[in-house]
Amino acid sequence: MEDIVYLLPDSIANQIAAGEVVQRPASVVKELLENSIDAGGTQIKLVVKDAGRTLIQVIDDGKGMSVTDARMSFERHATSKIRTAEDLFKIRTMGFRGEALASIAAVAQVEMRTKRREDELGTILQVESSEIKKQEPLATKDGTSISVKNLFYNVPARRNFLKSNPVELRHITDEFHRVALANPEVAMSMTNNDLEMYQLEAGKLSKRIVQLFGKNYQQQLIPCDEETPHVKVTGYVGKPEFAKKTRGEQFFFVNGRYIRNNYLNHAVSTAFQGLLKEDYFPFYVLFVEMDPLHVDINVHPTKTEVKFDDDRMLYGVINSAVRQSLGSFNVTPSLDFST
Ligand code: ADP
Ligand code: MG
Repeated sequence: MEDIVYLLPDSIANQIAAGEVVQRPASVVKELLENSIDAGGTQIKLVVKDAGRTLIQVIDDGKGMSVTDARMSFERHATSKIRTAEDLFKIRTMGFRGEALASIAAVAQVEMRTKRREDELGTILQVESSEIKKQEPLATKDGTSISVKNLFYNVPARRNFLKSNPVELRHITDEFHRVALANPEVAMSMTNNDLEMYQLEAGKLSKRIVQLFGKNYQQQLIPCDEETPHVKVTGYVGKPEFAKKTRGEQFFFVNGRYIRNNYLNHAVSTAFQGLLKEDYFPFYVLFVEMDPLHVDINVHPTKTEVKFDDDRMLYGVINSAVRQSLGSFNVTPSLDFST
């Protein structure tokens, strides 16, 4: 090859970007569910076929898109969620990078149906390998439905990297759990190969936990509530005797976003010190609310790693919140979660 600098065509640039955002079917599920949440959906349906290999569809009753926005949404760096660099420090939405739809459409066959309440007609749009194949007016209901078919059909190397269907489905349900826990006020459902896996009514967090994980969780939840001038911590921790041998059921959300953070995990587990058998991990679903100015979510394309201005302060607040709730649970042994 001659040593000349070329600008890559968009389709290739999008495919490269897709490598970071779309690793597997579960990544598509995460991005689409988060878009539906950002759009103010109150009912969100996830339909999956063959663990997402052949179909991932998300249907919402959110605000929908205009004809122009429907087309624009597939452009890279196209977003309605931020405008300026300062906005990066005020983010309240799940999305802001404007990369997801462009990335997904670079490595799959995508069909979008969307309509805003104020419009007479909606739009249907089909995109394949970043190319718009069709855009037409369509009589459709309010909200948005996006179908992602044959993921990685044009990237065999990626397709071959996918694990077995049970493993890929497990990743999908993990993402579904995270969004469902963070948004208990939104009704959500999930089917795989026409089999209903979840049918979640809108309600309180405690009810959502029980609907997702099982009735036996009902008696195991200890509420957690702590507020300092800079941070608010809410949610539930499981009773110590309910701890398990796997780490799988530990959830941290910062401003509504699921994050992974070993340091904060440690803040919780040390609060349990002396209460757990060795190698047992407590269940928890904890929400941290803080000024977005003090947390950088733009560390990684998937946004599950974040950086805090002051993680020692946060460690302290979480640790004390969990200690407090474990302590108060000892003096009030019976709690009512029936509401
Ligand atoms: P981001 O979420 O980072 O803005 P995306 O590529 O995920 O980027 O989406 C691009 C834009 O498309 C969003 O900013 C939003 O305006 C619009 N959009 C995507 N999904 C939906 C949806 N389900 N309902 C309404 N608008 C949507
Ligand atoms: Mg998005």
